[in-house]
Amino acid sequence: MPENGVMKGSLMSKAIFYITDKSLSLADRVKSIYPKINVIRYKSGIIREEWGRNKLLIFIMAAGIAVRAIAPFIKDKKTDPAVLVLDEDGKFVISLLSGHLGRANIFARELAGFLKAEVVITTASDVNSLTAIDLWAQDNNLTIEKWDIVPFISTRLLNNKNLKIYDEINIELPTEFIKAENPETADILITNKINLYDSKMTASRRLFLRPKNIVIGIGCNSGTTADELEAVIREVLQENNLSFLSISLLATLDKKASEAGLISFAKKYALEIKSFTAKEINALEGIEKSEAAFKATGAKAVAEPSAMLASKCKSLLFKKQKRGNVTVAAAETNAAFTANTENLIQKIKEGVMMSHKEKQICKSQSSLDIRGRIYIVGTGPGNIAHITPYAQNAIKESDYIVGYGTYLDLIPELTKGKSIVSTGMTEEIDRCKKAIELANEGRTVSVISGGDPGIYAMAGLVFELLSLKQSDDKNKADNSKTCIPYIEVIPGISALNACAARLGAPLMHDFASISLSDRLTPWEVIAKRLEAAVSSDFVIAIYNPKSRGRVEHIKAAVSIIQKYRNMRTPVGIVKKAMREGETIIITDLQHLLDHEIDMQTTIIIGNSQTFIWKGWIITPRGYRVSNT
Ligand code: SAH
Repeated sequence: MPENGVMKGSLMSKAIFYITDKSLSLADRVKSIYPKINVIRYKSGIIREEWGRNKLLIFIMAAGIAVRAIAPFIKDKKTDPAVLVLDEDGKFVISLLSGHLGRANIFARELAGFLKAEVVITTASDVNSLTAIDLWAQDNNLTIEKWDIVPFISTRLLNNKNLKIYDEINIELPTEFIKAENPETADILITNKINLYDSKMTASRRLFLRPKNIVIGIGCNSGTTADELEAVIREVLQENNLSFLSISLLATLDKKASEAGLISFAKKYALEIKSFTAKEINALEGIEKSEAAFKATGAKAVAEPSAMLASKCKSLLFKKQKRGNVTVAAAETNAAFTANTENLIQKIKEGVMMSHKEKQICKSQSSLDIRGRIYIVGTGPGNIAHITPYAQNAIKESDYIVGYGTYLDLIPELTKGKSIVSTGMTEEIDRCKKAIELANEGRTVSVISGGDPGIYAMAGLVFELLSLKQSDDKNKADNSKTCIPYIEVIPGISALNACAARLGAPLMHDFASISLSDRLTPWEVIAKRLEAAVSSDFVIAIYNPKSRGRVEHIKAAVSIIQKYRNMRTPVGIVKKAMREGETIIITDLQHLLDHEIDMQTTIIIGNSQTFIWKGWIITPRGYRVSNT
């Protein structure tokens, strides 16, 4: 376990345990939001194998069975996985263990939202809507120095509703954390210094949070052991009043980076080793040349320039100190804090959700390419039950939701607490531009379309704008170029699917969909395509049949259709399919215009084979079905 308290390895593995058939079917529902979860029949002894392997364990059974099953393996809040308990009916989701650092509370809320269950959370900070200190520290890559002080400080927060923070790195603080200028009066001290005040007060009442902002430059003889390196680094840091927990990375000459002792020391504390060539080091100005180092390695010096290069800082926290086989120097990183790059790389590899702050850190580490994300999501005809779990998750994962107000109003459960960018229907281009802008800042954005995003909707627009931007960029020499975000188009049930389902099976054979909106397409083109489709006997789905500005188009369309089709051709008119106020009309071509048609209507016109049976419109699949 690295000292920063972040679990490594199988970060995303999840397991769900069931006993009865009923609980198995609930487990299968859970699988639709966590597709990779292992569904396991519970039996005694099984937890011994699964405990270390999973980040999340879900038990669908009596809480008592779960408690007894996990009891022998519980160690501490830094390493224990998240544990949830569900009742067989899926009415309650209990966050049982590792609510904060293990993220059980987040999982519990997510799952309860999905199952429409009641979430049971008992951690005091959540109950009181206050910051959980351990979680906040972890999110900001601050290492808790003494875990046994956390409960005292948390209780103080619960009682006083605020805490005083002495902060040397200028971090963003939650509202209940008040900045203290004087370290002696602070409850929490964010600093890399061991002693900040000369007080008689017992240190046990204050919590030191260590930012990861010290780069250690190291030179060592070949064969130096990990133990010697650790002892010297600890000793020198102590003498300089600096905390070992604040080490963010180790820097050295490339030739030294393969030293076994150095590698094993780095591994022990999950630290990255950054190395530089003699050429890079010698190009650095103002370094003191060491003849011995130069002779042995070709670099003018090792510890000091490596620390400076890795920290991008021109001055040192302390100059090089030589003890035995080891030379150590240190520099402070410029950034407010440097995340443990390795953890983040791990997260990226495993596709774990990252906070915006984490993404920014990744961006600042030039070796990592962290792009924003645009999910172009289809929300179906207008009812949350008709949105795929995958699409729901994408929306939940997003920092921003970009969409037309009416569509967003249909899914309030999913947009709660999100930043919303919503403009009128005609400002689609502005909305898409905004989404691209946000993604360029590294945000995750869901661009919402009703129905399917690839049918008369936003997907095309996002791609068009990106391709335009890129050809613009070709003419730019500077680095203000658009970076192409990660894009995923997430399908939804389109109006033609929803309306066809309501009508029976009208689209069973070849069909064409035609939008009568001439806002972006000239009417002549629409009329030509309609004529081509009708004359070839395609079933026709008509989108955007009518709006306040365009009442004549539907009449013109019907007269084109009537040229080629029998007046008795079945027609379905569906308004507000699968949402409140749904109406379904089954009629024929002759009577189509007698019915109310508006912008929330889709019309389906059958082909020459389509027939009506018991209130359903059916287009034959084409097999010859006979009664004999
Ligand atoms: N991307 C959407 C289509 C947007 S164009 C999709 O895939 O469904 C808007 C048109 O879609 C409306 O004018 C109407 O013709 C149709 N439409 C959208 N939702 C509908 C619904 N719930 N019932 C009937 N028609 C609908």
